[in-house]
Amino acid sequence: MSKVLIIGCGGVAGVAIHKCCQNSEVFTEICIASRTKSKCDDLKAKLEGTTSTKITTAQVDADDVNQLIALIKEVQPDLVMNIALPYQDLTIMDACLACGVNYMDTANYEPENLDDPEWKAAYEKRCKEEGFSAYFDYSWQWAYKEKFEKAGLTALLGSGFDPGVTQAYCAWAQKHLFDTIDTIDILDCNGGDHGYPFATNFNPEINLREVSAPGSYWENGHWVEIPAMSIKREYNFDQVGQKDMYLLHHEEIESLAKNIPNVKRIRFFMTFGQSYLTHMKCLENVGMLSTTPIKFEGHEIVPIQFLKALLPDPATLGPRTKGKTNIGCIFTGRKDGQDKTAYIYNVCDHEECYKEVGSQAISYTTGVPAMIGAMMLLTGKWNKPGVYTVEEFDPDPYMDALNKWGLPWQVNDNPELVD
Ligand code: NDP
Repeated sequence: MSKVLIIGCGGVAGVAIHKCCQNSEVFTEICIASRTKSKCDDLKAKLEGTTSTKITTAQVDADDVNQLIALIKEVQPDLVMNIALPYQDLTIMDACLACGVNYMDTANYEPENLDDPEWKAAYEKRCKEEGFSAYFDYSWQWAYKEKFEKAGLTALLGSGFDPGVTQAYCAWAQKHLFDTIDTIDILDCNGGDHGYPFATNFNPEINLREVSAPGSYWENGHWVEIPAMSIKREYNFDQVGQKDMYLLHHEEIESLAKNIPNVKRIRFFMTFGQSYLTHMKCLENVGMLSTTPIKFEGHEIVPIQFLKALLPDPATLGPRTKGKTNIGCIFTGRKDGQDKTAYIYNVCDHEECYKEVGSQAISYTTGVPAMIGAMMLLTGKWNKPGVYTVEEFDPDPYMDALNKWGLPWQVNDNPELVD
């Protein structure tokens, strides 16, 4: 039925590609294109013979708009799935506009080079105006709204788990459970153990930048920013148990604050073990999380990229990781004049994911919604020109697809609340 160009072939893309190949009725043909073509060829070799989806591969530097345009013209896809890194969001959106093709991704734009003067000026202005200092925000991609509208094209932003599924949970709760939602707490718990003293579950550079940044939350119409990891809570997660969790800034708070009418507070918590935090603090203190290039023995190196080279590749954690993830949203609000609470969440087992697609649950819980978001666009279930996040579409077909394609969800009407 449709042809898709998938850019990136890392941990998340690997799962999304497996899932597309399980869903050949929708994904009749895929082209996997990435910086390192051999990874695409290896995955193609693994999947061929197990699927009726036709697979081709290509090499592309997605930082280069002209290379992207040439590739899109050659492949002629119905949709480009950007599952590379957030650094490539804008170049891929530009190429999609130039070629008249729909776009989707799993994370909002952030620049690779934080010293770029043009970006820095816009960033500093935004920090002052908005009141949060994360390096990533939606403004860069929302600025494409009119261009996509005029071209009659759709860009779906952030169809992973968080962002992604968490916003579908919010839209579904708004549509089916509440008249008004007052508060949303997004809880991301990884109860998995990979046996390494320190490793990240997805791209280390993106992950470490995110968790070492100041935390922030949305309250009564504005951002409240706090020092990194300074708000800690304990929570007893279904099928995982008691965990420490910390308040982080997270990208979906920004779009939910705009799209959930009258919401008073939105927070995001993620669980971390003490070993992870101690390693991270130490690496930060010695400068290993820096993105500013330094000279070392005649070579220029970026410390965080060097660190990435030393750390285990997240794609290799699959066979070692045991335990479960539990990610969801706790809502408080009103229905028919009564106070109401609800907790919508998914529990995912690392070992089951590995059995199914050869990957751990973090990549799985992101790769499955990437396929589902693509399916929503390709089947016309979600179809409106412009640039949108997940909660701006009808959640029902997406929520049904989550149950069907490996991320079943449940609702608890009487959850433990977070103070
Ligand atoms: P990986 O580092 O495992 O994979 C990234 C892939 O992109 C690699 O194949 C890499 O190629 C490729 N790539 C990087 N730069 C370029 C470039 N210039 N041109 C072409 N290809 C390039 O990352 P993950 O799979 O862990 O993450 C993928 C995305 O998913 C990220 O944007 C991440 O932020 C997002 N994410 C979203 C989550 C959510 O819940 N919404 C959760 C987790 C991740 P190479 O092999 O050569 O390095």
